[in-house]
Amino acid sequence: MIAVIQAGGAGTRLKEIAGDLPKPMVPISGKPILQWQVESLARSGVGVIYIICPKTSTAIQDHFGDGSKFGVSIHYFVEEVPLGTGGVFFYLANLIKEDFFLVFGDLMLDVDWNRFMKFHKKHDGAITTFGHPNSHPYDSDVLVLNQEGKVINMLSKKNPRDFFYNNVTNAGLYVVSKGLLNTFKGMDEPIKMDFEKELLAPTIFTGLCYCYRSSEYVKDCGTPDRYAAVTRDNDTGVVKSRNLANPQKAIFLDRDGVINVFGDFVRSADKLFLKDDAAGAIKRINESKYLAICITNQPVVARGETSFAELSEIHAKLETLLGEGGAYLNDLYFCPHHPDKGFEGEVPELKIDCDCRKPKIGLLLKAKKDYNIDLKASWFVGDTHQDVQTGINAGCKTILITSGDPNPAAKYADAKPDYICRDLAEAVDLILSQE
Ligand SMILES: [Zn+2]
Repeated sequence: MIAVIQAGGAGTRLKEIAGDLPKPMVPISGKPILQWQVESLARSGVGVIYIICPKTSTAIQDHFGDGSKFGVSIHYFVEEVPLGTGGVFFYLANLIKEDFFLVFGDLMLDVDWNRFMKFHKKHDGAITTFGHPNSHPYDSDVLVLNQEGKVINMLSKKNPRDFFYNNVTNAGLYVVSKGLLNTFKGMDEPIKMDFEKELLAPTIFTGLCYCYRSSEYVKDCGTPDRYAAVTRDNDTGVVKSRNLANPQKAIFLDRDGVINVFGDFVRSADKLFLKDDAAGAIKRINESKYLAICITNQPVVARGETSFAELSEIHAKLETLLGEGGAYLNDLYFCPHHPDKGFEGEVPELKIDCDCRKPKIGLLLKAKKDYNIDLKASWFVGDTHQDVQTGINAGCKTILITSGDPNPAAKYADAKPDYICRDLAEAVDLILSQE
């Protein structure tokens, strides 16, 4: 496999740490960011790396040489005239004969690149973006996806958002298909070009861009605060542990009564309100080695009381509110089914005895596959014995929350939780204290 790392451009906001070094050479725990990238790529079997370097410094070439020390073959392009983030494609067009990774050099990361490429090949788009939820979606570019994972829009951070949106942000890693390079083959000389504006945006517009959604660690360290956070995450092992080649630990969360206030059924977005402790508790999960994954039964869909579109809006509100509190869910899985037929207004095809309605574990098995989760090392936190039974069925440790459903033992009364806590904040304290 081949990767192109965009390491041109100067870092100005990190001057006190970087000095005159190019930004990708800023050290994290004693190694340049770029070296963490090269080593991560090499571990997945990437053998050839092209690095775009600024002409103001030879620090990158001096450090990496021909790449043999790092088990890869490295070639350099020096930007005599800055060509923007896409201009170098002119040179790549005649060199690269296969789909390749495009990586921005100021990102601290550890990724299973094989998994990313496999997703790209399966969907066969012109560009596959790497999407993930982050702790500040309100000032990030956000990707809008359809059910198949196709990117149908990108909401710029520059435009105000007075509506609810899902927290899937653009990380700055891509797989670019070799076909996209054909555009450049007829050109006589390179032109200055912005990758996002002039290549990514038109690809989204023509329906050829997909999003690979991942929980892996990819963060920029462009300000002193972010630099400190990334260094801490690396020193505590969070960066490496999130690589999906390693088994993951999750805290599975029920929705109603755990994250949002328990009430009558939440049939529309205006009925959803976060519990006071939810964003703070989930933010602490996000900063730990655990994934935060919501697992919820939503029989309101089968009963015809809420459409799939309305449920999407409810979940967009949930993600927007959590995002405002600096927290995110790595993913959310719901069961729209219900087994009992014969009610007015119901959706007959959803009135089935499915494999995903809790306490069945179909949704957990899907999450396990999507994120390589070790269920035995994971927890289920819910406000009913039905949730507890789900956790037991999946082999997870379980916590029952007492500030949710006022009648928690209505079903599966015999299911005994490992622990009982007042709310999610207390449950997260307990889980993290056992680390
Ligand atoms: Zn189901």
